[in-house]
Amino acid sequence: MPSFSSSEGSALVTGGSRGIGAAIARGLAADGWAVGVNYRSDRDAAGAVVAGIKGDGGRAVALAADVAEHDAAEQLFTELEGHFDRPVLTLINNAGISVDDLTPSLRDDAWDSVIETDLNAAFRLTRRALKPMLKARTGRIVNISSVVGLRANPGQANYAAAKAGLIALTKTAAVEVARRGITINAVAPGWIETDMTAEVSKELLAQVPARRAGTPDEVAACVRFLVSEAAGYVTGAVLSVDGGLAA
Ligand code: NDP
Repeated sequence: MPSFSSSEGSALVTGGSRGIGAAIARGLAADGWAVGVNYRSDRDAAGAVVAGIKGDGGRAVALAADVAEHDAAEQLFTELEGHFDRPVLTLINNAGISVDDLTPSLRDDAWDSVIETDLNAAFRLTRRALKPMLKARTGRIVNISSVVGLRANPGQANYAAAKAGLIALTKTAAVEVARRGITINAVAPGWIETDMTAEVSKELLAQVPARRAGTPDEVAACVRFLVSEAAGYVTGAVLSVDGGLAA
Protein backbone atom coordinates (compact mmCIF):
# COMPACT_ATOMS: atom_id res chain seq x y z
CA MET A 1 0.00 0.00 0.00
CA PRO A 2 1.56 3.38 -0.92
CA SER A 3 2.35 5.21 2.24
CA PHE A 4 1.89 8.90 2.80
CA SER A 5 5.16 10.87 3.16
CA SER A 6 7.16 7.81 4.21
CA SER A 7 10.11 9.17 2.23
CA GLU A 8 10.14 12.47 4.14
CA GLY A 9 9.22 11.54 7.68
CA SER A 10 9.65 8.85 10.27
CA ALA A 11 7.06 6.95 12.32
CA LEU A 12 6.99 6.40 16.06
CA VAL A 13 5.23 3.32 17.46
CA THR A 14 4.92 3.29 21.24
CA GLY A 15 5.00 -0.15 22.85
CA GLY A 16 6.45 -1.67 19.69
CA SER A 17 8.42 -4.48 21.28
CA ARG A 18 5.69 -7.12 21.10
CA GLY A 19 2.07 -7.88 20.30
CA ILE A 20 0.08 -5.36 18.28
CA GLY A 21 2.77 -2.67 18.39
CA ALA A 22 5.42 -4.99 16.94
CA ALA A 23 3.08 -5.93 14.08
CA ILE A 24 2.40 -2.24 13.40
CA ALA A 25 6.13 -1.41 13.44
CA ARG A 26 6.86 -4.21 10.97
CA GLY A 27 3.95 -3.17 8.75
CA LEU A 28 4.91 0.51 8.62
CA ALA A 29 8.52 -0.41 7.87
CA ALA A 30 7.29 -2.58 4.99
CA ASP A 31 5.40 0.49 3.73
CA GLY A 32 8.67 2.44 3.60
CA TRP A 33 8.65 4.23 6.96
CA ALA A 34 11.77 4.63 9.07
CA VAL A 35 10.34 3.40 12.37
CA GLY A 36 11.08 4.19 16.01
CA VAL A 37 10.23 1.09 18.04
CA ASN A 38 9.57 2.28 21.58
CA TYR A 39 9.65 -0.12 24.52
CA ARG A 40 9.58 0.23 28.29
CA SER A 41 11.40 -2.77 29.74
CA ASP A 42 12.05 -5.53 27.20
CA ARG A 43 15.14 -4.34 25.35
CA ASP A 44 15.82 -7.72 23.76
CA ALA A 45 12.30 -7.98 22.35
CA ALA A 46 12.53 -4.46 20.87
CA GLY A 47 15.97 -5.33 19.48
CA ALA A 48 14.53 -8.43 17.82
CA VAL A 49 11.76 -6.39 16.16
CA VAL A 50 14.35 -3.90 14.86
CA ALA A 51 16.64 -6.71 13.63
CA GLY A 52 13.73 -8.35 11.82
CA ILE A 53 12.81 -5.09 10.07
CA LYS A 54 16.42 -4.49 9.05
CA GLY A 55 16.71 -8.08 7.85
CA ASP A 56 13.79 -7.39 5.53
CA GLY A 57 15.53 -4.30 4.16
CA GLY A 58 13.70 -1.74 6.30
CA ARG A 59 14.85 0.99 8.68
CA ALA A 60 14.18 0.94 12.42
CA VAL A 61 15.65 1.92 15.76
CA ALA A 62 14.73 0.81 19.28
CA LEU A 63 13.90 3.64 21.70
CA ALA A 64 13.65 3.04 25.45
CA ALA A 65 11.16 5.17 27.38
CA ASP A 66 8.33 4.73 29.83
CA VAL A 67 5.59 6.79 28.18
CA ALA A 68 3.99 7.33 31.58
CA GLU A 69 6.92 9.60 32.47
CA HIS A 70 6.18 13.26 31.72
CA ASP A 71 9.41 13.91 29.79
CA ALA A 72 9.11 10.77 27.62
CA ALA A 73 7.40 12.51 24.69
CA GLU A 74 10.13 15.11 24.25
CA GLN A 75 12.85 12.49 24.73
CA LEU A 76 11.39 10.07 22.18
CA PHE A 77 10.76 12.69 19.50
CA THR A 78 14.19 14.29 19.91
CA GLU A 79 15.92 10.89 19.69
CA LEU A 80 13.94 9.73 16.66
CA GLU A 81 14.25 13.04 14.81
CA GLY A 82 18.01 12.96 15.39
CA HIS A 83 18.48 9.32 14.45
CA PHE A 84 16.89 9.49 11.00
CA ASP A 85 17.40 13.25 10.52
CA ARG A 86 13.80 13.83 9.54
CA PRO A 87 10.57 14.91 11.27
CA VAL A 88 8.23 12.41 12.85
CA LEU A 89 5.17 12.54 10.60
CA THR A 90 3.37 9.44 11.91
CA LEU A 91 2.62 8.60 15.53
CA ILE A 92 0.97 5.39 16.69
CA ASN A 93 -0.12 5.59 20.34
CA ASN A 94 -0.13 1.88 21.05
CA ALA A 95 1.56 1.42 24.45
CA GLY A 96 -1.00 0.26 26.96
CA ILE A 97 -1.51 -1.68 30.15
CA SER A 98 -4.50 -3.10 31.99
CA VAL A 99 -4.85 -3.61 35.74
CA ASP A 100 -8.24 -5.20 36.28
CA ASP A 101 -10.59 -5.22 39.26
CA LEU A 102 -14.26 -4.57 39.94
CA THR A 103 -15.00 -0.92 40.70
CA PRO A 104 -15.78 -1.36 44.43
CA SER A 105 -12.28 -2.74 45.02
CA LEU A 106 -10.34 -0.92 42.32
CA ARG A 107 -7.34 0.73 43.96
CA ASP A 108 -6.20 4.30 43.32
CA ASP A 109 -2.84 3.13 42.01
CA ALA A 110 -4.51 0.77 39.52
CA TRP A 111 -6.73 3.62 38.30
CA ASP A 112 -3.86 6.10 38.09
CA SER A 113 -1.32 3.87 36.35
CA VAL A 114 -3.76 2.83 33.61
CA ILE A 115 -4.99 6.39 32.99
CA GLU A 116 -1.40 7.67 32.97
CA THR A 117 -0.11 5.07 30.49
CA ASP A 118 -3.14 4.56 28.25
CA LEU A 119 -4.55 8.10 28.11
CA ASN A 120 -2.34 10.85 29.55
CA ALA A 121 0.76 9.60 27.71
CA ALA A 122 -1.13 9.55 24.42
CA PHE A 123 -2.16 13.17 25.00
CA ARG A 124 1.42 14.28 25.71
CA LEU A 125 2.76 12.38 22.67
CA THR A 126 0.00 13.79 20.44
CA ARG A 127 0.73 17.34 21.61
CA ARG A 128 4.43 16.90 20.85
CA ALA A 129 3.76 15.16 17.52
CA LEU A 130 1.57 18.00 16.25
CA LYS A 131 4.46 20.51 16.35
CA PRO A 132 6.37 19.10 13.33
CA MET A 133 3.15 17.97 11.67
CA LEU A 134 1.63 21.46 11.77
CA LYS A 135 4.87 22.83 10.34
CA ALA A 136 4.90 20.21 7.57
CA ARG A 137 1.14 20.64 7.05
CA THR A 138 0.81 16.88 6.96
CA GLY A 139 0.79 13.99 9.43
CA ARG A 140 -0.94 10.89 10.72
CA ILE A 141 -1.80 9.89 14.28
CA VAL A 142 -3.49 6.59 15.10
CA ASN A 143 -4.57 5.85 18.67
CA ILE A 144 -5.04 2.23 19.69
CA SER A 145 -8.22 2.29 21.74
CA SER A 146 -10.33 -0.80 22.48
CA VAL A 147 -13.79 -2.27 22.15
CA VAL A 148 -13.87 -1.67 25.91
CA GLY A 149 -13.93 2.07 25.15
CA LEU A 150 -17.19 1.50 23.29
CA ARG A 151 -19.05 -1.04 25.45
CA ALA A 152 -18.90 -2.27 29.02
CA ASN A 153 -16.52 -4.96 30.23
CA PRO A 154 -16.85 -5.67 33.97
CA GLY A 155 -13.57 -5.38 35.85
CA GLN A 156 -12.07 -2.81 33.51
CA ALA A 157 -13.48 0.59 34.62
CA ASN A 158 -10.01 2.19 34.58
CA TYR A 159 -9.07 0.71 31.20
CA ALA A 160 -12.50 1.58 29.74
CA ALA A 161 -12.25 5.17 30.95
CA ALA A 162 -8.79 5.50 29.40
CA LYS A 163 -9.82 3.93 26.09
CA ALA A 164 -13.05 5.95 25.84
CA GLY A 165 -11.05 9.07 26.69
CA LEU A 166 -8.67 8.21 23.88
CA ILE A 167 -11.60 8.17 21.44
CA ALA A 168 -12.77 11.59 22.66
CA LEU A 169 -9.21 12.94 22.37
CA THR A 170 -8.99 11.48 18.84
CA LYS A 171 -12.20 13.14 17.64
CA THR A 172 -11.52 16.55 19.18
CA ALA A 173 -7.88 16.82 18.12
CA ALA A 174 -8.78 15.53 14.64
CA VAL A 175 -11.27 18.35 14.14
CA GLU A 176 -8.78 20.92 15.45
CA VAL A 177 -6.09 20.05 12.87
CA ALA A 178 -8.10 18.71 9.91
CA ARG A 179 -7.57 21.82 7.79
CA ARG A 180 -3.79 21.44 8.18
CA GLY A 181 -3.64 18.11 6.35
CA ILE A 182 -3.23 16.02 9.50
CA THR A 183 -5.48 13.05 10.22
CA ILE A 184 -6.09 11.54 13.66
CA ASN A 185 -8.01 8.30 13.99
CA ALA A 186 -8.59 5.53 16.51
CA VAL A 187 -8.58 1.78 16.06
CA ALA A 188 -10.67 -0.24 18.50
CA PRO A 189 -9.47 -3.85 18.64
CA GLY A 190 -11.56 -6.56 20.25
CA TRP A 191 -9.93 -9.75 21.46
CA ILE A 192 -6.49 -9.97 19.88
CA GLU A 193 -4.08 -12.80 20.69
CA THR A 194 -1.16 -11.20 22.55
CA ASP A 195 0.47 -11.38 25.99
CA MET A 196 -2.22 -9.00 27.26
CA THR A 197 -4.99 -11.54 26.60
CA ALA A 198 -3.02 -14.68 27.53
CA GLU A 199 -4.87 -15.02 30.85
CA VAL A 200 -8.38 -14.37 29.48
CA SER A 201 -10.72 -17.36 29.56
CA LYS A 202 -11.18 -18.83 26.09
CA GLU A 203 -14.88 -19.32 26.93
CA LEU A 204 -15.37 -15.61 26.32
CA LEU A 205 -14.69 -16.26 22.64
CA ALA A 206 -18.30 -17.44 22.39
CA GLN A 207 -19.30 -13.74 22.67
CA VAL A 208 -17.31 -12.85 19.55
CA PRO A 209 -19.53 -13.12 16.44
CA ALA A 210 -16.53 -14.30 14.37
CA ARG A 211 -15.89 -17.04 17.01
CA ARG A 212 -12.16 -16.49 17.00
CA ALA A 213 -9.54 -14.12 18.34
CA GLY A 214 -7.94 -11.59 16.01
CA THR A 215 -4.25 -11.37 15.20
CA PRO A 216 -1.86 -8.44 15.67
CA ASP A 217 -1.41 -8.36 11.88
CA GLU A 218 -5.15 -7.83 11.41
CA VAL A 219 -4.94 -4.72 13.62
CA ALA A 220 -1.76 -3.58 11.89
CA ALA A 221 -3.49 -3.83 8.49
CA CYS A 222 -6.08 -1.26 9.62
CA VAL A 223 -3.40 1.04 11.01
CA ARG A 224 -1.46 0.80 7.75
CA PHE A 225 -4.58 1.82 5.85
CA LEU A 226 -5.19 4.82 8.11
CA VAL A 227 -1.56 5.93 7.65
CA SER A 228 -1.67 5.47 3.87
CA GLU A 229 -2.23 8.13 1.24
CA ALA A 230 -5.54 6.46 0.41
CA ALA A 231 -6.94 7.36 3.84
CA GLY A 232 -6.32 11.09 3.48
CA TYR A 233 -10.03 11.96 3.91
CA VAL A 234 -10.55 9.71 6.95
CA THR A 235 -10.20 11.62 10.21
CA GLY A 236 -11.84 11.53 13.63
CA ALA A 237 -12.96 7.98 12.90
CA VAL A 238 -13.01 4.89 15.11
CA LEU A 239 -12.31 1.68 13.22
CA SER A 240 -13.40 -1.47 15.07
CA VAL A 241 -11.26 -4.58 14.51
CA ASP A 242 -13.12 -7.04 16.65
CA GLY A 243 -14.83 -9.82 14.72
CA GLY A 244 -18.17 -8.04 15.24
CA LEU A 245 -17.96 -7.72 19.03
CA ALA A 246 -19.02 -4.05 19.15
CA ALA A 247 -21.63 -4.33 16.39
P1 NDP B 1 1.13 -6.34 25.07
O1 NDP B 1 0.96 -6.40 26.54
O2 NDP B 1 1.34 -7.57 24.29
O3 NDP B 1 2.33 -5.31 24.71
C1 NDP B 1 2.35 -4.07 25.32
C2 NDP B 1 3.44 -3.24 24.72
O4 NDP B 1 3.38 -1.94 25.32
C3 NDP B 1 4.83 -3.77 25.01
O5 NDP B 1 5.64 -3.46 23.90
C4 NDP B 1 5.27 -2.97 26.22
O6 NDP B 1 6.68 -2.80 26.30
C5 NDP B 1 4.62 -1.64 25.93
N1 NDP B 1 4.39 -0.80 27.08
C6 NDP B 1 3.58 -1.02 28.13
N2 NDP B 1 3.64 0.00 29.01
C7 NDP B 1 4.51 0.89 28.48
C8 NDP B 1 5.01 2.15 28.90
N3 NDP B 1 4.61 2.71 30.05
N4 NDP B 1 5.91 2.78 28.11
C9 NDP B 1 6.31 2.25 26.94
N5 NDP B 1 5.86 1.06 26.49
C10 NDP B 1 4.98 0.39 27.26
O7 NDP B 1 -0.14 -5.52 24.55
P2 NDP B 1 -1.00 -5.66 23.20
O8 NDP B 1 -0.11 -5.76 22.04
O9 NDP B 1 -2.03 -6.68 23.42
O10 NDP B 1 -1.74 -4.26 23.22
C11 NDP B 1 -1.27 -3.13 22.50
C12 NDP B 1 -2.34 -2.05 22.59
O11 NDP B 1 -3.57 -2.54 22.08
C13 NDP B 1 -2.62 -1.58 24.02
O12 NDP B 1 -2.89 -0.20 24.03
C14 NDP B 1 -3.88 -2.36 24.38
O13 NDP B 1 -4.64 -1.71 25.35
C15 NDP B 1 -4.59 -2.37 23.04
N6 NDP B 1 -5.58 -3.42 22.89
C16 NDP B 1 -5.24 -4.74 22.98
C17 NDP B 1 -6.20 -5.73 22.84
C18 NDP B 1 -5.89 -7.18 22.89
O14 NDP B 1 -6.84 -7.98 22.85
N7 NDP B 1 -4.65 -7.60 22.98
C19 NDP B 1 -7.60 -5.36 22.61
C20 NDP B 1 -7.85 -3.96 22.56
C21 NDP B 1 -6.87 -3.04 22.68
P3 NDP B 1 7.62 -3.70 27.29
O15 NDP B 1 7.35 -5.12 26.95
O16 NDP B 1 9.01 -3.26 26.97
O17 NDP B 1 7.19 -3.36 28.70
